[in-house]
Amino acid sequence: MANKRTTRKIQKSVTRATKTLAKSHSGRVTLVFIALLLVVAIAFGAWWFYFRKPEQTTPVISPDAVIDNNTHDNNNANDDPQNNDDEDEYSCAYIQAYPAVSDQDISIHFLEVGNHYTGDCVYIKTETCDILIDCGSRLNSLPTITDYLSHYVTDGVFEYVILTHAHQDHIAGFAAAQYNNSFFGAYSVEVFIDSATLVTTAVYNRYVTNLEKAVTEHGTTHYTALQCINETDGAQTTYAVGGGYTMTILDTEYYETPSSSENNNSVCCLFSNGTRNYLLTGDLEQEGEESLIERNTLPHVDLFKAGHHGSYTASSAALMAVIQPKTVVVCCCAGDDEYTSDNAKQFPSQQFVNNVAPYTSEIYVTTLNDESVEGKHVSFNGNVVYMSKGSVYKVACSASATKLQDSEWFHENRVLPT
Ligand SMILES: [Zn+2]
Repeated sequence: MANKRTTRKIQKSVTRATKTLAKSHSGRVTLVFIALLLVVAIAFGAWWFYFRKPEQTTPVISPDAVIDNNTHDNNNANDDPQNNDDEDEYSCAYIQAYPAVSDQDISIHFLEVGNHYTGDCVYIKTETCDILIDCGSRLNSLPTITDYLSHYVTDGVFEYVILTHAHQDHIAGFAAAQYNNSFFGAYSVEVFIDSATLVTTAVYNRYVTNLEKAVTEHGTTHYTALQCINETDGAQTTYAVGGGYTMTILDTEYYETPSSSENNNSVCCLFSNGTRNYLLTGDLEQEGEESLIERNTLPHVDLFKAGHHGSYTASSAALMAVIQPKTVVVCCCAGDDEYTSDNAKQFPSQQFVNNVAPYTSEIYVTTLNDESVEGKHVSFNGNVVYMSKGSVYKVACSASATKLQDSEWFHENRVLPT
């Protein structure tokens, strides 16, 4: 009704103005101009009231409202998420920078590391524990990492921290020249687990100095993976980490006899609540994976952190056949030439796609090389957060919820195996 009254008032005003203006030539020109304006205004008004869609007030896509990747797409899985062989297990990927995780049993956060160098930093949260696995890729990654963690770690304490192996892209944040500038300066660490190594780099030596200070002056307990496997000196193979989950240090032969190929010394761990399983193997290569298969009874896993950033030397067909992952996250800067100019071998490699694609299409990648921008990197999926409550899980990505195989980069650089 208010709109009709307003319209009548406008019509009367226009009529009065018309009579006045029509008395002169310039007035007639002005009249025509006003009439045109009026037509445009009325047309715009009609569009505004009747056709315009409500404005999106937030770029966040509700996981309940918009479901993009809602099936596993396993070769043998039913595509209907409401009626599949995985009972009530349900997935969706959506865009959100800092998803709320407090109502989840567990959340596993695969972080971007603030530069175009590939590296790992995985944060795991339950109601009672904050856990970090690796702190790469360079020391200048640390502000990016701690900024992210500040949204979730409220007491400044990490109950468990694991360094998988002594390469810079995993160790950098622990290895500042000054203790207070390292991860140890930002957070208290209760239990720190690492592996034996043959590495003697300056970066590694700085890490050792900082870890020793954490142990001697700040109460950190340090165990090697071998101590965990042997359960010596108070170390445990399996830790209850909250949310009904355990963290189990898996065994490989290299804990006892370190390899000259440092990647194979990676600490491997499995998070499990008895039915849901998440496997992280650091940068373990094919030989290490063979040892892992031999020494452990591995379950099918719901989540797998791509071995060695999606390298062609890891995530072997043999391991994939054993664990048959349903969701895979690759921590890397896709297509970056940091390690090789051979496109097919750049992370995530064609061989990785060949090995993993038979089991799942749910592959997410943190970062993407982009030579056209300062810093040479943009987000691929961005920070990827895998959350689970009961048998339900969902994936939040900070930048894009597009699966790897549906991405522009994939179409230009990779092919699905036939
Ligand atoms: Zn690495």
